[in-house]
Amino acid sequence: MLLPPVCLLCGDSGYGPDICLGCRRDLPSNLHACVRCALPVVVGVAECPTCQALPPCWGGAFSAFRYEFPVDSMIRSLKFDGRLVFGRLLGQLLALELRRRLFARGAARPQLIVPVPLHPARLRERGFNQAAEIARYAGALLATEVREDLVARNKDTPPQVDLDAAARRRNLRNAFTVDPGLQHRHVAIVDDVLTTGATATALTETLVDAGAACVEVWTVARTLGRDPGSVRTPGRASFEYRLTNAGRVGPVVTCANPAGCDQAAAARPRRLFISNGPTKAVPSR
Ligand SMILES: [Zn+2]
Ligand SMILES: [Zn+2]
Repeated sequence: MLLPPVCLLCGDSGYGPDICLGCRRDLPSNLHACVRCALPVVVGVAECPTCQALPPCWGGAFSAFRYEFPVDSMIRSLKFDGRLVFGRLLGQLLALELRRRLFARGAARPQLIVPVPLHPARLRERGFNQAAEIARYAGALLATEVREDLVARNKDTPPQVDLDAAARRRNLRNAFTVDPGLQHRHVAIVDDVLTTGATATALTETLVDAGAACVEVWTVARTLGRDPGSVRTPGRASFEYRLTNAGRVGPVVTCANPAGCDQAAAARPRRLFISNGPTKAVPSR
């Protein structure tokens, strides 16, 4: 018997992806964001001042959500509790947001999706690569090829959190090797979270050295505390941002609701079923 989809967050009936419309509307959308680094910007601005002064080496970055509850819990459930069903949900949500906010506006689609690889030792330990799980479902919805095997991670880099920018760069130098037969010019890197951008920078440089002409960075979530400017490399070629309608001028998005789209949904408390600890209520906005 085929069961109807059930919302992974509240248990109501889903509408296709494993989430109900109410819970989806309550997710912390990263709607007004810099097209280069995905940090929030004021409405109508395409690029943040940091990116205008020194763009990152990749062409554009897209993060569907801010790294806030419940998206942060969904990602941790996937990564640390091995709840792969969240890989499916997050991958589908990433694809739906990309479709709605970029491709429906005429943005060029990449030819290939490359999930950020894990080092083999970490992969053995975890049993799966969360980025690959997300990429697989996003790629299926977007009808775009996903290559998990294209890039290898040679260095088991320690967590980057406590390192300064120079140490982060050193840490990730030559971290990746790519299959030399890269045929695709326009590639999207997929990861769960974009934080400092150090990993995405190293992977972009590897892909560009292998022949990619345009690299984008797609993540489910964006942390807001850290500026990827700390890992930008002056002098490194930055590539033309080819999302045709993402726009360097004029509003990137328009929202008819004066309160903002993500606050349009009624802030009703919800019980969420996604952590091992006590269930939490969504903070009302
Ligand atoms: Zn729900
Ligand atoms: Zn920026």
